[in-house]
Amino acid sequence: MLDFTPFYAKLATSKLHQWLQTLPAQLADWQQHALHGDFKKWQKVISNLPVTTVSLVELSKAVEFGTATDISDGQAEQIRYLLQQLKPWRKGPFNIHGIEIDTEWRSDFKWNRVLPHISPLTGRTVLDVGCGSGYHLWRMRGAGARFVVGIDPSQLFYSQFQAIKHFNPDPDVNLIPVGIDDMPPLAAFDTVFSMGVLYHRRSPIDFLQQLKHQLRPGGELVLETLVVQGDEHTVLVPGERYAKMRNVWFIPSTQALCHWLRRLGFKNPKVVDLNTTNLSEQRATPWMENESLIDFLDPTDHSKTIEGYPAPLRAVIITTT
Ligand code: SAH
Repeated sequence: MLDFTPFYAKLATSKLHQWLQTLPAQLADWQQHALHGDFKKWQKVISNLPVTTVSLVELSKAVEFGTATDISDGQAEQIRYLLQQLKPWRKGPFNIHGIEIDTEWRSDFKWNRVLPHISPLTGRTVLDVGCGSGYHLWRMRGAGARFVVGIDPSQLFYSQFQAIKHFNPDPDVNLIPVGIDDMPPLAAFDTVFSMGVLYHRRSPIDFLQQLKHQLRPGGELVLETLVVQGDEHTVLVPGERYAKMRNVWFIPSTQALCHWLRRLGFKNPKVVDLNTTNLSEQRATPWMENESLIDFLDPTDHSKTIEGYPAPLRAVIITTT
């Protein structure tokens, strides 16, 4: 059994305490009935990670825990081998004792587009919905957040997060393996992030409302998602696949998205960044050897996906409750 008691203890003394009414039972049930076939294997990998002396914790410019000189060559080989058992690594990069986990995505590029525009995180309690392996959770903490919670139902991402947290067991950075539908409306977070999730939702407007229900009055929503060019009535609903992904439902224009947000009572939505994903941000690496962006685009015209849709264009939108 995984031990979530340190997190529950944190919740008990925080403004998130209402979550304790549902979360312990959900996580207990999940561990009894819904574990991924490889979850035991992943947990064994994590339990085999050596305890090391970590002489450096870098969260401001990158996510780096420990240096190469903290450990022996043998330990470096052991850690590298164990971390590779958790492939594919999609979101990062992470540097652990000099071992560079070169992930499919340069999630730091996204963070650099987001950070200059948000309310300073100093002292804030923040939620990251669909946080992946938690790369941005660490950067949020590095930007001064007091208490950071990510949720993501992917058990591989959760295991990768545990592997990273092993080297910097900060009790104020947490990934809880549940989805947004499992959360009660806490109305308590100062900032809610949701990056790269909206287009995976079949009911995007309900999803935006769920995000709103996590925010305190006056709280800030930071939304990052795929968009298309167009007016406030333009929404692309792709066919079976978009950029080879089967689970893409709604890709609105930024104007449509701002319109949805206003309809839900969000105030002053602002588009602070627009960016066409390029091949240096998303690519195959030794840590993720499957297909990547280059394989998802039309080989003769990179402005189109392989299905002929507009290539991935991403927006960052900031709004308040
Ligand atoms: N936020 C990260 C990762 C985005 S990938 C980034 O921007 O890089 C999208 C993530 O959403 C996946 O990890 C997936 O597991 C997660 N996700 C899917 N459905 C979800 C739900 N209902 N609640 C929370 N997360 C969800």
